[in-house]
Amino acid sequence: MDEISLKARAKININLDIVGRRKDGYHFLNMIMQQIDLFDDVFVKKASRGISVSTASKYVRDDKTNIAYKAAYEMMQLFDDIKGVAIEIDKKIPVAAGLAGGSADGAAVILGLNKIYNLKLSESELIDIGLKVGADVPFCLIGGCAAVSGIGEIVKPIKGLTDKWVVISKPPIGVSTKEVYSLFKLENIRRDFDFGEIIEAVESQNVKKFSSIMNNSLESVTAGKYKEVRELKRKFEDSSPNFCMMSGSGPTVFGIYDDYENAKKGYTSIKKYAKDTYLVKTYNNLNGGYYGE
Ligand code: ATP
Repeated sequence: MDEISLKARAKININLDIVGRRKDGYHFLNMIMQQIDLFDDVFVKKASRGISVSTASKYVRDDKTNIAYKAAYEMMQLFDDIKGVAIEIDKKIPVAAGLAGGSADGAAVILGLNKIYNLKLSESELIDIGLKVGADVPFCLIGGCAAVSGIGEIVKPIKGLTDKWVVISKPPIGVSTKEVYSLFKLENIRRDFDFGEIIEAVESQNVKKFSSIMNNSLESVTAGKYKEVRELKRKFEDSSPNFCMMSGSGPTVFGIYDDYENAKKGYTSIKKYAKDTYLVKTYNNLNGGYYGE
C-alpha cells in the first residue's frame, strides 16, 4: 500500500475543566471530547524524499508550520523506512475554531503512516508520538468520545452521545488557543465537581442535565473578550437546545438537540446570523479502532 485516504474528524468539548497549570504553561485538564461528523479529507502518500503539504484552503499554510507536516516530521525522525511523505488536505473544518481541525489532520497523518508502512504501533506508542505534535492529537488518534485528562495524554474512551444532533457555529473571528489559556485565572478553577459524575451523565445520555453539570473554564475568557461569542450564545439559547456551550478555546459555540426537527430549526435561525454554521451528528468510533478510516 502506497497511499491512504482518511477522514480527520472535528471534536467538540462537552466539558473542559482546567484543574491546574504546569510551570511550562501547559494546563492540566478534565475534558470530555466528542467527535462529530464534520471532517477534513486527508490523503497520505509515500514519497521518495522530504515532506510536502498541499491544500486549497486559504486559511492554513502548506509549509512546516502545518500540524500535518509536524506529524510527518515526527514519524520520519522515528522510522528510517519513511523516506518522504506527500500530504493533501481537503479542509472543511473551520480553522482556529476550537474544533481541533489541525490536531485531527496531524493524527490522520500518524495513523496513515502507521498503516501504509505497516508499523503496527500500539495505542500508547501512537499517543506518545501524538503528544509531541499537539495536546489534542492523542484524543484525535483514539477518536469517538473520551474522558481526556493530564495535559491531553490520558485518553479513556467512554460511551459517547449516540444519535444526537449538534448545531455548531463559528462567528467570523479566529481565536488564539494559547492566548485564551494564558488569560485564564487559576482562582477560577471550579472545585465542586466530580469528573466521575460528568462521565456518568454523558454515558447515560442525560443531555437535559448537562447544564447543571458541564463547564468550559475558557468560555468566560473568550466570551468576555469577544461580543460575537456572547451574541452567538444568546442566539443558541433562543433556539431551545437541550444544552449549549462554547467548544474548546472557542469561538465556536454548539448546541445539542434531542430531535432533528428542533435541530433543523436551530440551524436555520443561527445560519442567518453566522454563515459558518453546520448541522451534524455525533460520531462514535464503535469498532474501537484507532486506525482511522
Ligand atoms: P484546538 O481545538 O485543538 O485548540 P483549534 O480548532 O482552535 O484547535 P486549529 O483549527 O487546529 O485550531 O488551528 C490552530 C492553528 O493551527 C491555526 O492558527 C492554524 O493556522 C494552524 N494550523 C496548522 N496546521 C493546520 C491544519 N492542518 N489545519 C488547521 N489549522 C492548522
